[in-house]
Amino acid sequence: MKLRKVVFFDRDDTLIEDRIYLNDPDDICYLPHALDCLKELRDYNYDFVIVTNQSGIAKGIVDLKNLREIHRRIRGEYSRMGVEILDFLYAPYLPISNHFLRKPNPGMLLEAAHNYNIDLKKSWMVGDRMTDIEAGQRAGTKTILIGDKEPPEKSPYAPPDFHAKDLFEVSDFIKKHSVK
Ligand SMILES: [Mg+2]
Repeated sequence: MKLRKVVFFDRDDTLIEDRIYLNDPDDICYLPHALDCLKELRDYNYDFVIVTNQSGIAKGIVDLKNLREIHRRIRGEYSRMGVEILDFLYAPYLPISNHFLRKPNPGMLLEAAHNYNIDLKKSWMVGDRMTDIEAGQRAGTKTILIGDKEPPEKSPYAPPDFHAKDLFEVSDFIKKHSVK
C-alpha cells in the first residue's frame, strides 16, 4: 500500500489571520500565498491536513457549528482551485487539559497518520508556534516554523528544521527538500 506524504498546516496565523477565537465564517482572511502554497505543493504529490487547537470551543467562545462552517468554507475555497484537503482536525480542549490531541502533543497528527496511511517521515508540520513544531517533532515529521512570533532560541522546545519568513519560503523549502 502506498503511503501518503502530507503537509500538516496549523490554521490560525499560518493559513488564515488569527482573529483570536474566530467564530464568524465571514471573517476568514487568508494570509499571503496561503492558497497558492498548497496548489504548488500538490504538484509535488503532497496531501494536506489542517490541525488546529480550538480551546475557544471549551471556553464557549467559539460555536461548534461556526467552526465547522469555517472549515467547510476553507475546504471549498481550496477545492475550487483543485486542491482537496484530506481533513480538518481540531482540538477543542483547554490548555490546562494537556489533552493528547492538543498541540504540543502529537495526537492529531498521529490520528491522521493512522486514518490516512501517512508516511510521517516524508511529511511536514508547518505552524507559527513552537507548540506546532513540538507536535510535529513528536509525531516524527519534519518541521517549519513560520513568522517571528516565537523565536526558537527562546523556546523550551527543540528548534524547527527550517524557520521561514512566510508561506512563499515554506513552499520553496518543501519543494527543494521533497522526496519522492
Ligand atoms: Mg497558529
